[in-house]
Amino acid sequence: MQKNLFGLTIDELTKELLNLNLPKFRAKQIAAWIYQRGATSFDEMTDISKNLRQQLNENYEINIVNLIKRLDSSDGLTTKFLLKLDDGAKIETVLMRHDYGNSVCISTQVGCAMGCKFCASTLKGLERNLTSTEILAEVVFVNDILRAENQKIDSIVIMGIGEPLMNFDNLIKFLTLIHEDYTLNLSYRKITISTCGIVPNIYKLAELNLPITLSISLHAPTNVLRSQLMPINDTFKVEEVVKAGRDYGDKTGRRVTYEYILIGEVNDTTEHALQLSRLLSGQLANVNLIPLNPVAETKFKKPSKERIKNFADFLNNRHINATIRREMGANINAACGQLRIKSI
Ligand code: SAH
Repeated sequence: MQKNLFGLTIDELTKELLNLNLPKFRAKQIAAWIYQRGATSFDEMTDISKNLRQQLNENYEINIVNLIKRLDSSDGLTTKFLLKLDDGAKIETVLMRHDYGNSVCISTQVGCAMGCKFCASTLKGLERNLTSTEILAEVVFVNDILRAENQKIDSIVIMGIGEPLMNFDNLIKFLTLIHEDYTLNLSYRKITISTCGIVPNIYKLAELNLPITLSISLHAPTNVLRSQLMPINDTFKVEEVVKAGRDYGDKTGRRVTYEYILIGEVNDTTEHALQLSRLLSGQLANVNLIPLNPVAETKFKKPSKERIKNFADFLNNRHINATIRREMGANINAACGQLRIKSI
């Protein structure tokens, strides 16, 4: 069986190619083809002799990921990809074309163990972690598609299926790889990690002192309500999560974002807005209000436009910077994770 070269670091690739007695510059050349020039076979590598390409073909392959289904929104701005991994597991990756650049939303696990009550990705629990290679594959796959349109990925949001901080080591290996000049050379400032609040790993991430943007899924200002919506709150309480967010901001100098899904008649009253403003007062933070994407399997509803606006205005009047997340790609599938659930 051929060994897959996709996902190797330059050092790993260099070491591997020593088996064919190839010098380091060959590893650099091949890495550029794989990560930057969209090659999925050695035959495309025109600056490598036929002889050597044949040798590479006999020993290696370039296996990125398999596309099962592609859905484009009617305005053409959002594209959802349902991808299949080598063991048959399925994940979703989403490309969003914003006016400030192309952003890709990636998954870090197959399914999710967190059990949030409003989320489609966790309905069937956790299947497994993604490897750093599989996470990288999502990004390179979408970047290859964009290259064909003379475009590229400008930012990454780690907000797809799974809890990234529950797959810490693979996540960090991926982040290091995507930052390298032989891959996408992407600045850490262009990367956002969203977490449901795995407190010890927020501190661990802060210790690494990478200027990555942290987004914390808060969704409720009190422990009683948050525990009803997010079982992880039984382990890490609201106050501990916000304290970890504050520490992250202090250590990295990056303003933390708190995500707050607005769920009709659950967490969207003025009282909730007041509690939230008190919780975050004095912290250099943004609040990103997310109108709920209804999930067929749950009973939750989206609040009215007016209620959403009132909630945002209340926070802004109290000097808590709040924005309402623009919905993208609603017509290609309601909620994050729904595509995968429907297909299994
Ligand atoms: N596990 C991470 C990242 C994945 S979820 C986290 O919890 O942050 C990315 C964001 O989408 C989170 O804020 C999550 O709470 C939110 N989300 C999940 N289901 C949603 C739904 N039905 N409608 C709107 N946002 C949702």
